[in-house]
Amino acid sequence: MPSVRAVLKIVTQRLAGITETPRFEAELLLAHVTGWSKVQLLTRMDESVDGEALEPLVLRRLACEPIAYILGTWEFFSLELAIEAPLLVPRPETEHLVEVALSHIPSAGGRVLDLCTGTGCVALALAHNAKAATIWATDVSDVAVRVASKNARQHKLPIQIAQGDLFGALPPGTGPFDVIVSNPPYVEEGEWDTLSADIREYEDPGALLSGEDGLNCIRSIVDEAPKWLLPEGLLALEIGEGQGAAVLALLDARGFVDTAIVKDLADHDRIAHGRWA
Ligand code: GLN
Repeated sequence: MPSVRAVLKIVTQRLAGITETPRFEAELLLAHVTGWSKVQLLTRMDESVDGEALEPLVLRRLACEPIAYILGTWEFFSLELAIEAPLLVPRPETEHLVEVALSHIPSAGGRVLDLCTGTGCVALALAHNAKAATIWATDVSDVAVRVASKNARQHKLPIQIAQGDLFGALPPGTGPFDVIVSNPPYVEEGEWDTLSADIREYEDPGALLSGEDGLNCIRSIVDEAPKWLLPEGLLALEIGEGQGAAVLALLDARGFVDTAIVKDLADHDRIAHGRWA
């Protein structure tokens, strides 16, 4: 049987054609198959491993299946979350949404709503870091509700999850909220062909696309959020990199104050937020 070192080298070479992080992904896949942690893997470079068990996973990745689906888990804001197709794989830039929300959740508790929760990543990161808050999460997808519920149980985080379209999912009497967050679909329909195969062929288009200008879902949220916010309450939305000015205009027109954009590490517009006066 080949050594860990040899397997990692070969798999890295094979994955180089389809991903910018071939070595990282080779390590994740081999750690998954062996049951070793990544640190254990790197300290056992000369031990032999069963390369055969890895092969089906490598073939799935070579067909551009997102590595998160192959592993069945993905890390977000230091939480390991279960994930399955076709849920949106939590992106690192969405961590900015969590940071903005955390800086507005009252330390005494407060009520928070996460719309389009998917795996539950944002709601669970908030629950983990704002233990006194009461957190609701909604999603139209039954897969999302099932997986987010599983993640909540796994991490013993008592969020409330409801299935349905945006605010329509909430049982009567649920609001009002101190903070409403969402990473909604925001990709323009015309942009679809420019997305990578990992995204286009595996992730739910319903979690990505939102009309010709990508703003349909954001418009609905901005329009309805004031009915669900406490005075001074915060609305924070993840947005596409070219959407800052348009979303600020929507927030201002609806009467939000202190509106602002937060850029991501790539210096792209990423979060738009405002308070309901
Ligand atoms: N940033 C995501 C992308 O890759 C889009 C996520 C979303 O629509 N919420 O493509």
